[in-house]
Amino acid sequence: MEFSVISEIFEKMEKTTKRIELTNILVELLEETPKKLIPNVVYLIQGIIRPNFEGVELGIAEKLAIRAISKSVGLPVKKIEVDYEEGGDLGITASNMIKLKTQTTFTTEKITVERVYDTLFKISKLEGKGSQDLKMKYISSLLNDATPLEGKFVLKILLGTLRLGIAENTVMDALAIAFTGKKENREHIENAYNVSSDLGKVSLIVATDGIDEIKKFRISLFSPVRPMLADRIQSEKDVIKKMPEQFAAEYKLDGERVQIHKKNDTIILFSRSLENITQYYPDIVDNIGKLLKTDNGVFEAEIVPINENTGEFLPFQELMHRRRKHKLDEAVSQYPITVNFFDVLYYDKNDCLDSPYSERRKILERLVDESNFAKLIPMLLVKNENEVEDFLENSINAGCEGLMLKTLDSPYRAGTRGSNWLKLKREYRNELGDSLDLVVIGAYFGKGRRTGLYGTLLLASYNPEEDNFPSICKVGTGFTDESLDQLYQILSNKVTIKKNSRVMSEMEADVWFEPELVLEIVASEITLSPIHKTGLNLIRKGSGFALRFPKFTGKIRYEKAVEDSSTGEEVLTLYNRQTKINQEA
Ligand code: AMP
Repeated sequence: MEFSVISEIFEKMEKTTKRIELTNILVELLEETPKKLIPNVVYLIQGIIRPNFEGVELGIAEKLAIRAISKSVGLPVKKIEVDYEEGGDLGITASNMIKLKTQTTFTTEKITVERVYDTLFKISKLEGKGSQDLKMKYISSLLNDATPLEGKFVLKILLGTLRLGIAENTVMDALAIAFTGKKENREHIENAYNVSSDLGKVSLIVATDGIDEIKKFRISLFSPVRPMLADRIQSEKDVIKKMPEQFAAEYKLDGERVQIHKKNDTIILFSRSLENITQYYPDIVDNIGKLLKTDNGVFEAEIVPINENTGEFLPFQELMHRRRKHKLDEAVSQYPITVNFFDVLYYDKNDCLDSPYSERRKILERLVDESNFAKLIPMLLVKNENEVEDFLENSINAGCEGLMLKTLDSPYRAGTRGSNWLKLKREYRNELGDSLDLVVIGAYFGKGRRTGLYGTLLLASYNPEEDNFPSICKVGTGFTDESLDQLYQILSNKVTIKKNSRVMSEMEADVWFEPELVLEIVASEITLSPIHKTGLNLIRKGSGFALRFPKFTGKIRYEKAVEDSSTGEEVLTLYNRQTKINQEA
């Protein structure tokens, strides 16, 4: 398949943000693509070459890309840098430079999707001495044969700046329409995606074997399952209203969620956002195998830092110390952890996703050999408000955040948030100032002691219907000198030249970021705002929600994907509760 087909379609996609149009264009592309190339194309439109959990990164630095363009078109690096500075998009610069060249020479060979994909894959595998030169050679050889339009998109994929604004949901709609003729079949495709997190793999099955095969899709080891999530609940009373007669209450620990995949001696760990985090927890890899009484299994647990002398849980931020490449062994002994199991999704060739919670819990109790290092999360079957309240008290006294409440007959609903699991946190009770998880979209430079840093951040919520990030507030309090430094280090790598197309804001920021980082925020009140876009029109036409006196709690929720941050609907719930409390007062 010629790469020009894809490039032209990408060009069309860049020009629209309308979901229906994007879906139609995608359907057209999928129908034109030879079946065996479907996964490659599905990855490429998302700007990746393998599913995210595999951690295959292209990671090309701009400098290297500029050198490669220069080598390919035979123009000085300086000229390319000037064009880039003027335009702000290296993809377009590549295209401009190739145009200059093609006025004098002819391209030799047409480039194909296969060739681009294989080259990108080879580049991603290169490391160590001499790898930079080799990468440059590969890139310039591709650019040699590329048309200006192809060059633009090759560059964008390489740099990770291809942002076509296509959400996974749109890709799944398009797969359903293109290969089954019915958009409703998207439900089965989504289900397969939720248990594998690999849209490429799923797309190949739909394209070649059809929807019936997709319906039979099962969990497989080392392909992470998208986590089941909980709804918030405010009080014990509300819990009783929502739950059946009897249900399970578990301690809600404040740590890092981990999905443990075990096959004989191989252990792989995935975070909540499905990043492979095995490298940060060598102690789990070394110890967990023998504590799990099965050769094959997929388990879910919460990793919590502890004080080894007292056995007390420590704040979840302590786990940050594990996020490093060097001297990790020191961090492992300085910051010990416990692994607290709460679910089993697969064991010994048995897929447990459809089994009810009560059965999964029994299996878990059978398979986990408890020790100081690995434990089961405490669970109690409860029926009434008093029992919930007592157990909540115990959980808080044990240093936990609150309770998770789970219906006994519910299957594991991968990738969905719903009322089969409820979370009750202590601080929610009778308080206005709930915490929200918000995405950093922009910043303003600081003054005084904050000069050279970002003094104030612009934050957004997540809108799952539109898959975008509407603004909600600016926050400038709650930061320590240390956290300001840390945030600067993280955020300065996410700066974009202009506002990302998924960011919805009328504010002007000094800098804009890729929406990738989630912070925990508290506030005194939710107000209506003509400027902010969160929950736009939900209460009043033309108004969104804003936070009054927002404050950073100190928690960077690095384990959360931006799509897991608070939504307009959640803010609406808090707003309604606040109004109710005000009326009662
Ligand atoms: P939140 O991050 O506030 O949305 O709460 C959900 C998170 O709580 C999950 O992703 C887990 O990391 C964590 N958690 C702690 N204890 C449990 C439990 N008993 N069951 C399920 N999740 C738990």
